Amino acid sequence: QQKTDRLAEVELRLKDCLAEKAQEEERLSRRLRDSHETIASLRAQSPPIKYVIRTVEVESSKTKQALSESQARNQHLQEQVAMQRQVLKEMEQQLQSSHQLTAQLRAQIAMYESELERAHGQMLEEMQSLEEDKNRAIEEAFARAQVEMKAVHENLAGVRTNLLTLQPALRTLTSDYNGLKRQVRGFPLLLQEALKSVKAEIGQAIEEVNSNNQELLRKYRRELQLRKKCHNELVRLKGNIRVIARVRPVTKEDGEGPDATNAVTFDADDDSIIHLLHKGKPVSFELDKVFSPRASQQDVFQEVQALITSCIDGFNVCIFAYGQTGAGKTYTMEGTPENPGINQRALQLLFSEVQEKASDWEYTITVSAAEIYNEVLRDLLGQEPQEKLEIRLCPDGSGQLYVPGLTEFQVQSVDDINKVFEFGHTNRTTEFTNLNEHSSRSHALLIVTVRGVDCSTGLRTTGKLNLVDLAGSERVGKSGAEGSRLREAQHINKSLSALGDVIAALRSRQGHVPFRNSKLTYLLQDSLSGDSKTLMVVQVSPVEKNTSETLYSLKFAERVRSVELGPGSRRAELGSWSSQEHLEWEPACQTPQPSARAHSAPGSGTTSRPGSIRRKLQPLA
Ligand code: ADP
Ligand code: MG
Repeated sequence: QQKTDRLAEVELRLKDCLAEKAQEEERLSRRLRDSHETIASLRAQSPPIKYVIRTVEVESSKTKQALSESQARNQHLQEQVAMQRQVLKEMEQQLQSSHQLTAQLRAQIAMYESELERAHGQMLEEMQSLEEDKNRAIEEAFARAQVEMKAVHENLAGVRTNLLTLQPALRTLTSDYNGLKRQVRGFPLLLQEALKSVKAEIGQAIEEVNSNNQELLRKYRRELQLRKKCHNELVRLKGNIRVIARVRPVTKEDGEGPDATNAVTFDADDDSIIHLLHKGKPVSFELDKVFSPRASQQDVFQEVQALITSCIDGFNVCIFAYGQTGAGKTYTMEGTPENPGINQRALQLLFSEVQEKASDWEYTITVSAAEIYNEVLRDLLGQEPQEKLEIRLCPDGSGQLYVPGLTEFQVQSVDDINKVFEFGHTNRTTEFTNLNEHSSRSHALLIVTVRGVDCSTGLRTTGKLNLVDLAGSERVGKSGAEGSRLREAQHINKSLSALGDVIAALRSRQGHVPFRNSKLTYLLQDSLSGDSKTLMVVQVSPVEKNTSETLYSLKFAERVRSVELGPGSRRAELGSWSSQEHLEWEPACQTPQPSARAHSAPGSGTTSRPGSIRRKLQPLA
């Protein structure tokens, strides 16, 4: 292609050169012709001049003048001729150079032509080689195609033979398929039969398991009842109402001097005996157990543990801390953050017990906190701690009591309890400026309800644990009290006496139990009656100046203590809880006599003392 292009270019240039040359030739020949013409005309002019010269010789001076003129003219013409000759010469030279140029151009043209020819030859050569290449490629492709074709043919032959061998396999497959089809048609019938027999077998197995289960369930229930009975028996043997005493250590607050000397001693061989030196006279009491100042919170808790777990089995339990202010009631019930008391330990125990039984039982534990002050019940966990709460009979006719509006918190961990306690405490602190004084004059109740469902039987149980930090039991002299303090004292006296009366009536299995004589006993009615269990922790101070109150507390303790008496002697043996009694032995600390306290159990006399069977030493009252 390149060569062809170059050839065309050269041809074009050649054509241009040729045209140029022709033009030049024409121009030169024209000029040559012009020059020839000029020469001819100049030759034709010469004869007249010769004539003039001849006539000049003949004619006169006038003619001479004319001659000279003519000579001058001749001269001029000669000059002109010389000039023309010059021009001619130049022109000839030009012509010659033009001839040379022409020759040159011709040579160039010849050169171009030869080049053109060579390019053409080259092109032809290349074309030929290309043609050869093409032919060779076609041949190769053809050979390859032939080889491939041959391979395809061979493959085809293989496939054909394969097809021939597959045909019999297909035939056996078809027959197999037909056989299977026949079997499938018969399958539902077969399946039905198999199902029927399996169903019958399963039914039988289920029946067997069922009857086994029934048997196990019966046994389980029997065991449960037996356990409950054993527990009841155990508690009965220990007494449904148990009384223990705890003596707090002598503290710095007790001061120094004779007033602060220790007046309480213990029996080294019998941990149910306590000796008190009152006004120089020794008095001894026997209770279910006596804890010396050395006893730890854990030791005390160990003693009440069984009661608390019975709550999980659906029993109602009451634990009271009784005693004069400063004797350690709050320490025993609440304790300190480092050394918590019964309240927190009880809940902790409940949590762990419930956890242990989690595979068979589902439990929820809720807590409420309330206080009774001046015979008014208040919710310590409510948003309105000021609000007075009422105790109502359940409308369902079960005879159960309930307190509408009393807040219940569900608790699952020690953290939850701490939060609840803190909340109750804050409520109390914000309500009363002198909390210590107030708490010594009110009863604080922590009510823990444990509700359980037996996963296998659906059996439901509800047990209530009432933990009560009672108001201070100290008696206020008539002279020292007036106004609100007197009213407080009357209320406290009334409710503590009512508690004693109720316990006495329960113990003697009297028909009438005076629950309604105080808010406290009315509220705890469910948890005090029936097969409920009660523990009274009587707190005493060991120091000399408190011996009067200590004596009073221990007397109270001995009375509420559960002593199994013979049915005939029971009534006669029981004392009453009328306040006349303490007036008898402690006339100095006479309590004002509220009208409600006049109530006493029928048939009870003020003369005989309770618990005389187990008492080893008679108190010197
Ligand atoms: P109460 O609640 O009966 O008025 P507290 O529980 O407040 O009495 O106890 C009065 C003081 O005696 C508190 O400072 C308490 O920490 C302390 N206390 C009571 N019992 C014990 C004890 N067993 N061990 C050590 N300190 C005690
Ligand atoms: Mg207290």
